[in-house]
Amino acid sequence: MALSVITIPCLSDNYAFILRCTDTGITAVVDAPEATPILAELKKQQWGLNLILITHHHSDHIAGIDELRAVTGAKVIGANLDKHRLPFLNTAVEEGDIISVGNSNAEVINTSGHTMGHISFVFNNDHKVFSGDSLMALGCGRIFEGTPEIMWDTLKKFIALPHNTMVYSGHEYTANNAKFALNIDPTNKLLVERAQNIETLRIKGKSTIPSMLELEMATNPFLRSSTPSFKVLFGMNSSSDLEVFTKVRTLKDNFKS
Ligand code: ZN
Ligand code: FE
Repeated sequence: MALSVITIPCLSDNYAFILRCTDTGITAVVDAPEATPILAELKKQQWGLNLILITHHHSDHIAGIDELRAVTGAKVIGANLDKHRLPFLNTAVEEGDIISVGNSNAEVINTSGHTMGHISFVFNNDHKVFSGDSLMALGCGRIFEGTPEIMWDTLKKFIALPHNTMVYSGHEYTANNAKFALNIDPTNKLLVERAQNIETLRIKGKSTIPSMLELEMATNPFLRSSTPSFKVLFGMNSSSDLEVFTKVRTLKDNFKS
């Protein structure tokens, strides 16, 4: 049983991911910022498209869906909570639901905060999570509709996943996120090393996505909000994890790189 993934750069800094069950040939895409590059890759591989999985309603994640559906006949899966502002859904899902891409199953988790109704797809057996604009490489999505409390609850769901899970997030924001992370956590050796790797990848025009959750746990400032040695950096030793997360989110919102 195996799920292969092809990363498709879209628009200026978005990603779509084409998933393929190598046993059955069933193919899905996670998010569709625009149809053209996704259709081009499907054509190149000579694959059809069976499913479109949506993380959230922002146009840079859904604008290509109607065209993809029209050309391929793919069925669309998205959050029941967001049904009113998503393209037509063949299947509306909620937290705890299981969807399948051929022989690979994904659990739907509610990862609200960036938007209310944002979902992520956890392929437990394949050690992959598609996190849209909730957990991002060295970052987390800006809180547009939720509260810091809701976003922190979301991040805790990621922290609870096996740490060998690969995180596929929806944007190439990593280099900028690294500048912020280094600014507040400059003595973190793994972070310094990671920032160098990111720079090298970007110079070569390569994607920094996916990243392993284990590395996010050690370097992503938002996930480090519960780490005592991280709290000390802000003199917040006795503050709650949520208070530290809220502080980091506020600092990032005001950070000028
Ligand atoms: Zn978004
Ligand atoms: Fe986005």
